[in-house]
Amino acid sequence: MVSEERVVFDNGTHQNILLEDYGHGEMVQSNVHFIVDSGEGILLDPGGHKVFKHLVSEIGGLIGLDNLKYIFLSHQDPDIVAGINGWLMTTKATALSSVLWTRFIPHFGVDKFAVSRIKGIPDEGAVITLGSTELYILPAHFLHAPGNLQIYDPVSKVLYSGDIGASLGQDYVYVEDFENHVQYMEGFHKRYIPTNKVLKAWVKMVRELDVETIAPQHGAIMKGKEIVNSFLDWLENLPCGIDIMEEAYRKPTKKFEG
Ligand code: FE
Repeated sequence: MVSEERVVFDNGTHQNILLEDYGHGEMVQSNVHFIVDSGEGILLDPGGHKVFKHLVSEIGGLIGLDNLKYIFLSHQDPDIVAGINGWLMTTKATALSSVLWTRFIPHFGVDKFAVSRIKGIPDEGAVITLGSTELYILPAHFLHAPGNLQIYDPVSKVLYSGDIGASLGQDYVYVEDFENHVQYMEGFHKRYIPTNKVLKAWVKMVRELDVETIAPQHGAIMKGKEIVNSFLDWLENLPCGIDIMEEAYRKPTKKFEG
């Protein structure tokens, strides 16, 4: 039974669910999102080995493992991909990743006969069918990985933004006070996003979509047009990466003390 807080959207045939958080210890808090349409599912950024067995049983209970059609990998980081071999071995799902990473993902230990089920999405993105609806795989390159993809669901109007909008350290699932929430997002975006130019390009694309909810892979979900717009306004003008780090490129002077 999924708690009410974790049902992001449900119209009877189409559900957007934030799966239970099975991460703990030294792992960075990660959200695993799940979209179901007419009984068919797509799992977003399933993460590593420690959460794998829990997620398998949760999905088995929700739709049955055989109805998992896709596993979406927004980029190549271990908190997204590390457990992929288990997923390919226990389900019939096709894994979707940027074409940039299909030759690298096998290094996470993908068995030879499962490798062909990792499909590369080209830089321009793609439209995929889930149940009786279509989902958009959006280009989000350099946000933060050079090959980076996101999912837009036009039924629920949820944009699954991967690491964009990621927050760390807050104790709530949904953002209520955007101004106060900025402190939990700022550090990550300033350090991991290469330059503001790419944020501006992404914000322009997102403003052309009808987005009600932004659901990142870490931290709190931004629900409602007002919060979504506040986020886009903030991001659009955020200096980050090389915009603010040029002075870091010099010979170090401090001894590493371990
Ligand atoms: Fe990442």
